[in-house]
Amino acid sequence: MYDLIIIGAGPAGLAASIYAARYGLDTLVLEQSAVPGQISMATVIENYPGFISASGKELMGRFKEHALANGVTIKKADVIKVESVTDKKLVLTREEELHAHAVIIATGANPRLLGVPGERKLLGKGVSYCATCDAPFFEDQEVLVVGGGESAVTDALILSGIASKVYVVHRRDTLRSCKVLQQRAFLKENIEFIWDTVLEEIIGEDAVEKVILRNLKTDEVTEKNIDGVFIYVGINPNTSLVELDKNENGFIRTNARMETSVKGIYAAGDCRETSLWQVVTAVADGAVAAVSAQEYITGLKLRPQDI
Ligand code: NAP
Repeated sequence: MYDLIIIGAGPAGLAASIYAARYGLDTLVLEQSAVPGQISMATVIENYPGFISASGKELMGRFKEHALANGVTIKKADVIKVESVTDKKLVLTREEELHAHAVIIATGANPRLLGVPGERKLLGKGVSYCATCDAPFFEDQEVLVVGGGESAVTDALILSGIASKVYVVHRRDTLRSCKVLQQRAFLKENIEFIWDTVLEEIIGEDAVEKVILRNLKTDEVTEKNIDGVFIYVGINPNTSLVELDKNENGFIRTNARMETSVKGIYAAGDCRETSLWQVVTAVADGAVAAVSAQEYITGLKLRPQDI
């Protein structure tokens, strides 16, 4: 029986593990075995204090090194279910059943699908959610980015260094991303913004060939030949493994102490309902969750029946 099992080895999970280990908790971090987290796919992060510019991989490497140096055990495992049975938490993976006094859910989120015809069919055949992974396939080709947030603009900038032309299709006429990124994108000669417009269909047989766009102000529908489509319309949390109070989009509801609706289960990072999903906020969530877990576990251990 562990004191604490942390599910997820991203910024929230690893930060929580460092705090937990330093409190002397016997801590296990379960890292998803196959799919890399969102952070590992980020080419460049420029807003994590202390790192003027670092890749997600580099930053995560440092976090991991820090956790291991504090005696945290990190294990690859795909978690299927988390359950609370009285004071014991059960974590069911594909291989085994693990037990802990407390659990921190730090499972992050994945890109949200746009849900237009052709998106699923052409996934991996020109449709992508990650420029870091797929931009090199579009050297000197024309690509289209959907969205106006941090991810869309960051990845449009990455693509502009490889593709010959990058169209950014956004449903409004102002971007959601931070001003620094906006200004950089506006200065790029090969990035063109298509405002007030939505992507309605992606067409192609074995590869993306063209898209159908609709201007929301004029209702004009246009067809555009394109080689690749990169979609960034938000994130979906990985929270189906546990039954807790969640909002309508599946993000876990917590209080300021990262406590969920179940005693002894905490949530931190991109999988929880919050106002800002960043590395810096995930790290802070992780620290708070670990402190709350530590207090809970100490309380459990001090109860007379457990002594
Ligand atoms: P986001 O901030 O939620 O932005 C999604 C964008 O897609 C918005 O511009 C939104 O338009 C648009 N959109 C949503 N649904 C749409 C639809 N059905 N059709 C067309 N457009 C649609 O998502 P994100 O950019 O993926 O970022 C997710 C989180 O990760 C954010 O909190 C972000 O700050 C964070 N992030 C951080 C970094 C970093 O720190 N370096 C990098 C990337 C992402 P509206 O603007 O009209 O709503």
